[in-house]
Amino acid sequence: MPSTHVKSFGEIFGNCLLEAIADPSCDGQLRWLAKQPGENHVICQSPGLTQGDHQRTYQPLDDVDPYVLRAVRFPLPPIPYGSARELFESISKIIGENTSLTKLQTFLMAFSALATWLPERSEVPVCVAIIGPASAERRRLVRVLQCLFRRPLHLAECKLSSLQSLPRTLNPSLFIEYWDSHSQLRKILQATSLRDAYVISHGRPIGTHCAKVVCLDEPWKASFADWPAIEICVPPADGPLPIFDDRAEEQIAQKFQGMLMMYRLQNYNETLGLPLDLPELTPHSRELLRSVGSSLVVDSELQETLIETLRTYDSEFEKPCEDLVQSATVQALLELCHRSETTVHVQEITDRLNRILEPRGELLPLKERSVAPRVRKLGFDTHERDRSGFFVRLLQSTRTRIHKLAKDHNVLARNVDLLCTDCKEFRPFDEQIDREEELIKAIGL
Ligand SMILES: [Zn+2]
Repeated sequence: MPSTHVKSFGEIFGNCLLEAIADPSCDGQLRWLAKQPGENHVICQSPGLTQGDHQRTYQPLDDVDPYVLRAVRFPLPPIPYGSARELFESISKIIGENTSLTKLQTFLMAFSALATWLPERSEVPVCVAIIGPASAERRRLVRVLQCLFRRPLHLAECKLSSLQSLPRTLNPSLFIEYWDSHSQLRKILQATSLRDAYVISHGRPIGTHCAKVVCLDEPWKASFADWPAIEICVPPADGPLPIFDDRAEEQIAQKFQGMLMMYRLQNYNETLGLPLDLPELTPHSRELLRSVGSSLVVDSELQETLIETLRTYDSEFEKPCEDLVQSATVQALLELCHRSETTVHVQEITDRLNRILEPRGELLPLKERSVAPRVRKLGFDTHERDRSGFFVRLLQSTRTRIHKLAKDHNVLARNVDLLCTDCKEFRPFDEQIDREEELIKAIGL
């Protein structure tokens, strides 16, 4: 019988599962978890498995690079979690308690976490975009997700070349906080988003598909509209959140990494049901459903919750008027930044926005609380507040950014202020304006 010696971090071989897990009795060591259908799982040094005419022996994990061991959190030995719904609810609860996310966002993150444990199920791995400036709330969310995603690897910087040099079968969940350029990130998305595509490293094809959490300070769709991602604009915390230090992080990871490993163990071999689809969702949300939903085929009730969650996500963030509201928000910011004030309150933006939208038939006036997330989604910080409420600080860089957005949303040409240097730099060419400018110069304004 042909026998192969395999060096790997895990795989599904036939209907058997092999997974490198952290050895709880020896810190910094990995062991094999092996599971064959109909048998209990075993934890051992070097499992051998037979499938039909093939035998595979897995090399012990003793010589794994210590840097990899330190950087990646490997799953813990499986422990019971109750039902899939109970697991989902306890994940949602821990995210809800430790972050400032809304309930909808919490559900989306709990589904994303579950999906990372059955990556073989979905064609497109999970991608989460955390939008907004680097804040305490954002850091906290990243840390909580790292306790819940499979094999999280937090990168201070990310280049395609460094991904190519990762161990071949590691397939971590990448947490990317900083990246050089949009084109660099685009390459990374391309290389990591297809289950059946490979990149070549040292002459060998390596599968680099993996889940991703990407932090950025502008809306995802502004630059990556063609890549489906769950966008999370981290809201400011309403009140004090519980202390989240290394110990709290370790406790959450200890609790969930074993339960989620059990979830993988019990479901990797379940047959796929009908492919999930919901034509009434926007194409973007249908992609998300395919990316996240296929990991939930085992629980129809949980699927219903996911569909409901995506419907709400769709109606809040994807509806057709969204673009109109977004460009009107940019226009409101542009008009307000032409005043001499150094700050602009969210309430002022809301009033201005409603005035812009009113003649366009938007009968429902927007509220301050729904405008603040839109302003943040555009990449502006609304965390500071005074007696008049939350505000955006109008630094020169903020004004420039507003103008750049106004140009991108085609609202600059109609609202050019001829005395504003940013308008001069960003406005599209316009003869009429040029003539007016000359006139202004002539008058000596
Ligand atoms: Zn201007």
